[in-house]
Amino acid sequence: MNDKFSLRCLDCQTTLADAAITACPACGGPIEVVYDLDHLRTSWEPTGRGLWRYFDLLPVKSRDSRVTLGEGDTPLLPGGRLGQQLGLSGLHFKVDCISPTGSYKDRIAAVSMSRARETGKTAWAATSSGNAGASLSAYGAAAGLPGALFVLEKAPRAKIAQIMTYRPRLYAVRGLGFEPAVDVMTLDGVRDLCERRGWMLMITARRYNPVGMEGVKTLAFETCEQLGRAPDVVYVPVGGGGLLSILWKAYQEWYALGRIDRLPRMVAAQGMGCSPVVDWWQAGRDDNPIAPCHGSISGLQLAAPPDGRLAVRALRESGGWGVAVPDENTYRVQGDLAQTAGLFVEPAAAITAAAAALDRAEGRLRGDETAVCILTGLGFKVMDAVNRLTADVEIPLIEAEAIAGL
Ligand SMILES: [Zn+2]
Repeated sequence: MNDKFSLRCLDCQTTLADAAITACPACGGPIEVVYDLDHLRTSWEPTGRGLWRYFDLLPVKSRDSRVTLGEGDTPLLPGGRLGQQLGLSGLHFKVDCISPTGSYKDRIAAVSMSRARETGKTAWAATSSGNAGASLSAYGAAAGLPGALFVLEKAPRAKIAQIMTYRPRLYAVRGLGFEPAVDVMTLDGVRDLCERRGWMLMITARRYNPVGMEGVKTLAFETCEQLGRAPDVVYVPVGGGGLLSILWKAYQEWYALGRIDRLPRMVAAQGMGCSPVVDWWQAGRDDNPIAPCHGSISGLQLAAPPDGRLAVRALRESGGWGVAVPDENTYRVQGDLAQTAGLFVEPAAAITAAAAALDRAEGRLRGDETAVCILTGLGFKVMDAVNRLTADVEIPLIEAEAIAGL
């Protein structure tokens, strides 16, 4: 292979040269990026720090194209007091919320924006009212590439405050977020806008941005290097399903490169009121009729996950499973993570530890297995959850003279 990478359809296996496509021209299936792993196995060593340490396994051709804010190299911490409390001596946290904008989406934004720069794009567009919107806007600002971001009609200004700070062009779409037909029309509209204007489509799903999503693989590569081996089990929050499925691809690549001697089992953690991937996995199907979403976990409220089918496939191929976690467990564990591990994370991150706790209690996870929970976003991201978590905190007002006597 002369090029650094090529594209391949995940359904019909058709291979294509690098091109700006998001779906297979032959069958419409999802696209994946393919590298010459046999060659890399003998010729390549990771070098440098952060996400770009794995440059040879990322779909950016020139190092000069890189857009970076120092992403990657996030801590992998042992479970500590929380692990002991749960009877999980092998528990670990991959603290990926320690990122430039406070979420793992920075790995996607770094590669997407580098790709946009390399392919001569002059602007970008996406839909997101949360972590992806903040990441893309920050990296777009750093790259000098203007962006248009389409947000929920009722996105509270407090929720999109971080996004607004970077000043992308923002549009609230009438009905987006509570009318499924509008959700589909919005995605199609953004895709068509990008095609017509020659902009980069930045929606953070493999279905829409298979090249940019490759950035997330580095999270798995780091985890293996930090542990010195593959984890036994990886707990992943599942909204759209892209994170879980691309991590599975990463572990398979790392295995093919001879850097780990076995593969982990992947576990999908979803909220009980909105668990399409867990339901599809349980039913032994690839997808189902869309059920309404009643979950409350911000970032995971997707009734029709764009990469759901790929996530279910990863659960099956890895011998993993899905866990539907009651939302109250997730909020409780969010507090436990802060109070016993010092980790201030958003509910969509805490759900992984809540799922591990549930699995330990119900016998699906052994205490000595190395289980890595992916902590995706910082606690600041969802302030109403923080406010609920701290509503009972009382702060007595005292006189300065009284302090020494306390
Ligand atoms: Zn195809």
